[in-house]
Amino acid sequence: MPSLKGKVQTVLGLIEPSQLGCTMTHEHLTMDFSCCYYPPTSGQEALSSQPIEMKNLFWLKQNPYSNRENLLLCQETDAVKEELLHYKAAGGGTIVENTTTGIKRDMKTLKQLSKETGIHIIAGAGFYVDATHPAETRAMSVEQLAEVIVNEVTNGADGTSIKCGVIGEIGCSWPLTESENKVLQATAHAQSQLGCPVIIHPGRHSDSPFQIIRIMQEAGADISKTVMSHMDRTIFDEKKLLEFAKLGCYLEYDLFGTEFIFYHMSPDIDMPSDNERILRVRMLIDEGYEDKIVVAHDIHTKNRLKKYGGHGYSHILENIVPKMLVRGISQNKIDKLLVENPKQWLTFK
Ligand SMILES: [Zn+2]
Repeated sequence: MPSLKGKVQTVLGLIEPSQLGCTMTHEHLTMDFSCCYYPPTSGQEALSSQPIEMKNLFWLKQNPYSNRENLLLCQETDAVKEELLHYKAAGGGTIVENTTTGIKRDMKTLKQLSKETGIHIIAGAGFYVDATHPAETRAMSVEQLAEVIVNEVTNGADGTSIKCGVIGEIGCSWPLTESENKVLQATAHAQSQLGCPVIIHPGRHSDSPFQIIRIMQEAGADISKTVMSHMDRTIFDEKKLLEFAKLGCYLEYDLFGTEFIFYHMSPDIDMPSDNERILRVRMLIDEGYEDKIVVAHDIHTKNRLKKYGGHGYSHILENIVPKMLVRGISQNKIDKLLVENPKQWLTFK
């Protein structure tokens, strides 16, 4: 087996970090999110099984998890291919594909998409949230789980020889379950063997990221090579956010393009707007964390695709970057967020 040190591992093999270019660190190209179906409010039941059409788009934007078809991104390979070409034309180079076991990772499709578009795709090893863990996963010891993860990076995932280049997104709930706790420890063990990048999906509570870092640290993880996803919906209090930033992981603002009023997964959360995300990122840069911020859209439902009136994978490059410049974030700092920080993170140690 060739040494991974100093390289990045894509679904087409090892590449030099300098080849990555603009990188979205948290996307999905094919997945099934049926695990998070949320029934519509009373009176709107019929909308759950209606096809996606123009007159439903606003409702769908507000209720993305209440329409069954919307959760099947795995049915959209042709549209995703076209949208990756659009991302490439807008200056994109790489996508980190965060689909892990539990939400229907599809290594062969990822390889095919990379071949056909020329976009570097990095696949994720490991397990999504507890609600998707089968009995078999729950029964495994930390060491057995670590073995599975290491194998996905070194030999290939899901019975293929296509290898993962990152561990995650590793799913955590709030409160953290016993099975998720084991997976976190296994992630730390696998990371210390492999020197690889890790990415975590925290529970929807501002204490969750702190708890995760503590568990991983105790299990020997390299926090400086770990991304904490979904910061935009997790820590709102500025003082608490800066306290968390001190722990040294990457802070990922990855829900760009998601703007809705009622967040079914956690109704108490006010989902920020893209403008608010940009101000948050600027605040973190002003506080000295420009080397620790990464961004993405976390596309995981059909309505986020251009095909269904959504923003697609190029939204950050096309719409967010120009607004960041207006808000005084320099091109040099934007390049750190889009190119340099992902490159540092994705390179094996
Ligand atoms: Zn995700």
